[in-house]
Amino acid sequence: MVERDEAELLFISTYDRRVKRFAATESVLRLIPLLDGENTVAELVESLCDESEELVGEVCGALLTLREERLLSKVAIPGGERPNRGLTDAQIGRYDRQIGLFQEFCDSELVDYDEGLAAQERLASATVLVCGVGGLGSVVASSLAAAGVGTLILCDDDVIEESNLNRQLMYSVDDVGRSKADVLAERLAGVNPQACLVPERRRIGQAYDIADLVEKSDLVIGCADEPSVTVMAEITTTACWPDTPHIIGGSYSYHVGILGLLVIPGVTACWHCLLATVAGDHGRDRTEPFLRKNRHTGILGAQSGVIGNLIAWEAIRFIIGMATALSNRWVELDYGPVSFSERVISRRPDCDRCGGG
Ligand SMILES: [Zn+2]
Repeated sequence: MVERDEAELLFISTYDRRVKRFAATESVLRLIPLLDGENTVAELVESLCDESEELVGEVCGALLTLREERLLSKVAIPGGERPNRGLTDAQIGRYDRQIGLFQEFCDSELVDYDEGLAAQERLASATVLVCGVGGLGSVVASSLAAAGVGTLILCDDDVIEESNLNRQLMYSVDDVGRSKADVLAERLAGVNPQACLVPERRRIGQAYDIADLVEKSDLVIGCADEPSVTVMAEITTTACWPDTPHIIGGSYSYHVGILGLLVIPGVTACWHCLLATVAGDHGRDRTEPFLRKNRHTGILGAQSGVIGNLIAWEAIRFIIGMATALSNRWVELDYGPVSFSERVISRRPDCDRCGGG
């Protein structure tokens, strides 16, 4: 946003709300309204400086300042029409607004390429395996399908129960007794007919059960919580090691939602680094289970939806090549005051999975 204060222009960043003041000459005041995203720098200089050669230095200087402040887009869109390299016209039309957002990521150098279209292409060519499509996984899969992830494998052997409907919003009363994987694939095909949705009705009892699915995937997201989040995180990370990036530990418990880690094998801290760090911090590294936690308490859809969507956001960041927020980092959301706390999880040289190398 740009506001005028007599001879000064105020640039207000929609990205982080920073406000910067610039002194503006008459030529700059003529230049700014021409920055509509349709012209290249060369075209702007040409159209302004036809009238007076003396303006060339002034206009170029202003454009250079704007570029240094990351206020100029790296890509001009003549006539407002995006080229459709690699994507169909239908895809360009569907994702036009978010491609604009991805362009802002490019212009702000949050990714290392210049065109927002490239981010959408990365999503379109990605395959993501979602293990468990209940309260968390159905939210994750819905957001990824809507955003344009090309292939989603939905793995779950559960059937829909009436007690799921308070928080699993993709399912309805008529679906009770049907496979969650099948119903979600049907629903998401309605949300995004361009997505390839693969339902897999299988029980995940050990890493081997999903080995073939992991092999096809660029990213695996563990969202199952039976028999426990800890057991499923172990299975997910074992199935993914040593080649496939995965997100584990996204869960919720009573009043706290948990986010992270995103594990890139051999690069970031792994699930075992997290376990060892947490156990060591709490002095629990020599304890053993004594009493199971009370699992009768559930959660609201308003709560699980927050965690599910933040995991989907992390997955999108990873796929489009933006810095990830949950690598080497474990975040807890306290639903009481709605506040976040975080813990840095460093890769441990003594880790029995990723250490020693
Ligand atoms: Zn490790």
